Amino acid sequence: MDNLADLTPEELEEYFISLGQPKFRAKQAFSWIAKGVTEFEQMTNFPKALQKQLKGVATPLGAKICEKFESAIDETVKYLIQLNDGNLIETVLMSYHHGYTVCISTEVGCAMGCAFCASTLGGLVRRLTPGEMLAQVALVSADSGHKVSNIVLMGIGEPMDNYENVVKFIRLVNRPEGMNIGQRHISLSTCGWVNGIDRLAEENLGITLCVSLHAAFDEKRTAMMPINKKHPIHTLLAACRRYTEKTGRRMIFEYALIKGVNDTPQDAKRLSELLRGMLCHVNVIPVNPIQETNFERSERGEAFCRQLAPVTATVRRELGSDINASCGQLRRRKLEEKGSEN
Ligand code: SAH
Repeated sequence: MDNLADLTPEELEEYFISLGQPKFRAKQAFSWIAKGVTEFEQMTNFPKALQKQLKGVATPLGAKICEKFESAIDETVKYLIQLNDGNLIETVLMSYHHGYTVCISTEVGCAMGCAFCASTLGGLVRRLTPGEMLAQVALVSADSGHKVSNIVLMGIGEPMDNYENVVKFIRLVNRPEGMNIGQRHISLSTCGWVNGIDRLAEENLGITLCVSLHAAFDEKRTAMMPINKKHPIHTLLAACRRYTEKTGRRMIFEYALIKGVNDTPQDAKRLSELLRGMLCHVNVIPVNPIQETNFERSERGEAFCRQLAPVTATVRRELGSDINASCGQLRRRKLEEKGSEN
């Protein structure tokens, strides 16, 4: 089954030519995809015969909304999205003063094995295609009726483990004939895949790089994040420095604050020393306790930020805490439900 959302406008032209269709069908299809249509019948400027022909061989998006959960506290909506092969992923719509942000998944599951994260508990199932990433933005925008202004690649999966597809997606979603979301409005978060950071620096994309640091000492970071064995903190930060120097763009370090694990004044002091002079900002995230682990949330967020000075830091506002809005918890619960039905 061809997923038309995987194709650039140029690739779509070739595709329609190969079906004996005029080139302009590509432009029409590309703008329908951006509108989140899930059936060819919805492409109303396509002849009936073409709609029928496509139905047997292709899909417009490769994904559909399976369930949605609306927060009672804020405007956050969490979507459980079903891919054509039945796999489930999560996408979150968040409202900020500067507009609507969609948090997308880049993989089904994750291979990274971070100790505090629900997305990795069942391992990696498969990587998403560019169209399956685009579909998340298009579906959520269509369903909510809101124009999406920002995208964060912070859902399930490790973007650097799916590098080519992620970069193709960023270029697709940026196209003015489609979703037209500016690169400066896109943030990509990685657990610290050094080769990916170096590669990304060469792409000439205006996106914001975020790195999940979470600890300032190698021993602690390795216990939380297996990737640290391969790319320890000094190697990772050297790549981050190369990235900011090459791109001139400020980057973000994410730091999930866990009580008694990484929230002491010594942790803050060390982190501040490591990041001093870098073009960066620290986002302190109160850890979201998940059932399968026993990490406790730290209440030291504000104090920790102050202790990082002169490095700038803020505590990330929490959204959708009543709907399991973060970290693969929804997909996980769904899989457990399914498992217990069998
Ligand atoms: N794999 C990428 C993208 C995931 S982004 C990465 O690691 O950056 C999701 C962010 O949420 C990451 O910073 C991740 O470390 C963080 N996170 C995962 N589980 C969490 C939890 N239980 N509480 C708070 N943050 C968590």
